[in-house]
Amino acid sequence: MLDDGRMQCDLCPRDCRLHDGQRGLCFVRMRRGGRMLLTTYGRSSGFCVDPIEKKPLNQFYPGSSVLSFGTAGCNLACKFCQNWDISKSRDMDSLADSAGPEEIAGAALRMGCKSVAFTYNDPVIFAEYAMDVADACHAAGVQTVAVTAGYMHDAPRREFYATMDAANVDLKAFTDEFYVKLTGARLAPVLETLKYLKHETDVWFEITTLLIPGRNDGDAELEAM
Ligand code: SF4
Repeated sequence: MLDDGRMQCDLCPRDCRLHDGQRGLCFVRMRRGGRMLLTTYGRSSGFCVDPIEKKPLNQFYPGSSVLSFGTAGCNLACKFCQNWDISKSRDMDSLADSAGPEEIAGAALRMGCKSVAFTYNDPVIFAEYAMDVADACHAAGVQTVAVTAGYMHDAPRREFYATMDAANVDLKAFTDEFYVKLTGARLAPVLETLKYLKHETDVWFEITTLLIPGRNDGDAELEAM
């Protein structure tokens, strides 16, 4: 709680400071009294069985199937978002499917999926839901995958990745200017996530970069990356 009565969300570097009843930039996290509430807990915007290579993970159980699911909202504001209808949704009716952690783990088993992926929108903003699903998956012998931009504070990052077996981290560019202008975020916290994954965890992770001609595909930038 801050001196001015607002409450700060400590999940991601947005550090949203909220009055009672206000939502953060991700839209789905909301202050209610003295708590931060995840309004999308237990609801999904859709499920799909995919090849793991579509996440994309090329060296995590190659050839296996993964049950993908996501919710709504995002803590970045990428101008080139490919899932904008989900990530920028303000219509919570799009979260039609009720999906408890055990139900999701059971569905993955029934459909022959080796893993469950938290994807479509960034699981950072639904971290407690993703972690509960991950616990249920592990109890059922199913692996877990985070598909994320890696924009998260250190303490929640440690809790979150303790429940993940693999991650695909979207490194959107290698300049802070790109991050600020085209995603509304900063590069440094993403690099911290990558260093953390590499040096302090056993999480298998791969990096994806969407090249945008003239914006993030210069030879020097790619070489630096
Ligand atoms: S998770 Fe959402 S509410 Fe919390 S700081 Fe990030 S954008 Fe704001």
